[in-house]
Amino acid sequence: MDRVYVDNNATTRVAPEVLDEMLPYLKDLYANPSSMYSFAGEVAEKLKEARARVADLLGADTEEIVFTSCGSESDSTAIWAAVNANPDKHHIVTTRVEHPAVKNLCEHLARKGWRVTFVPVDGKGRLDTDYLYRSLTPDTAIVSVMWANNETGVIFPIEEIGNEVRERGIMFHTDAVQAVGKIPIDLRHAPVDMLSLSGHKLHAPKGVGVLYIRKGTKFSPFLIGGHQEHGRRGGTENVASIVALGKACELARQHMDAENTRVKKLRDRLEAGLLAAIPASAVNGDIDNRLPNTCNIGFESVEGEAILLLMDQHGICASSGSACTSGSLEPSHVLRAMGVPFTSAHGSVRFSLSIYNTEEEIDYIVEKLPPIIERLRNLSPFWKENQAAKAAAG
Ligand SMILES: *Cc1c(COP(=O)(O)O)cnc(C)c1O
Repeated sequence: MDRVYVDNNATTRVAPEVLDEMLPYLKDLYANPSSMYSFAGEVAEKLKEARARVADLLGADTEEIVFTSCGSESDSTAIWAAVNANPDKHHIVTTRVEHPAVKNLCEHLARKGWRVTFVPVDGKGRLDTDYLYRSLTPDTAIVSVMWANNETGVIFPIEEIGNEVRERGIMFHTDAVQAVGKIPIDLRHAPVDMLSLSGHKLHAPKGVGVLYIRKGTKFSPFLIGGHQEHGRRGGTENVASIVALGKACELARQHMDAENTRVKKLRDRLEAGLLAAIPASAVNGDIDNRLPNTCNIGFESVEGEAILLLMDQHGICASSGSACTSGSLEPSHVLRAMGVPFTSAHGSVRFSLSIYNTEEEIDYIVEKLPPIIERLRNLSPFWKENQAAKAAAG
């Protein structure tokens, strides 16, 4: 096999139907949708359709949809908007397991003088909601809690949290980048004020996102410029990518049930296959409340980076739980927050599937990975020590 791509929480393939729909807007239909002639009107109409498709997937109104450049921009815009709308409040509540788009901004605000509460999670990655509710005060400007975690797939009880937070008159934002398109979301029932999503996590291209802003929410723009997006986000619309995102949302809505059962089955097959074939391995995260496509497994006494490198030789693309991008081999902040023991946090690998994966690909991974782990463990002094200790203990 040339390539087996199981890193869909990092980014996804652009769906062929999505590409077909966006291409005309990179070729002949290039008008600025704000211009007056009918050529532009055609483009503006297509933008309108895209907005309606996004709104449909979320159970939102079209006026509540603001297109942005990415999930990170949506997250930043939401948190800055809440901070600016509440100049007399100096407290922010978020979790210890957010994506860097939220985590690093909150840490930045903490350095600038805001008080930030980072709500902990338990060993399975479940949020301590009582801790969250106890931390709320009249000084709290915003609560930002992700809908589903990108590393473990663990889903947080957004409806319950939203009710508690908004009952106290506090703004509630959710980073739903990993949830949208994977699990049903209906903002007619989910009490959130703002929600972020990103195109490239649901088979649209990179560089387009959405911030949902519930009607009546106090808001100030992050990008101040032209009157685009009803003055909520300046900048000429990224027409082709917005059209693509609209199509991706429509596809997600059509395929959600059927594909989720199929993707979940593949994920479960992968997980069961690996756990059975590889001793001293365990799932990270709450297996009863996870995204259907995500599986994070810790392999004791091996380095995640080494696993990725050897899997890459077989064309398998996945992610590790350690933050190699930062130049350190520290286990990820998510696994650390869960208290996953160092020896298995280091050897954690995230597999994230999509509708484009096949059973053959899953079986290929289940065939290739066990000998890789065995080979690495035979090189590991920790593994040998652990085995010797276990043998001595009887
Ligand atoms: C990918 C991701 C983001 C960032 O989205 P970009 O479009 O890449 O900026 C934010 N939050 C979560 C949970 C993500 O998985």
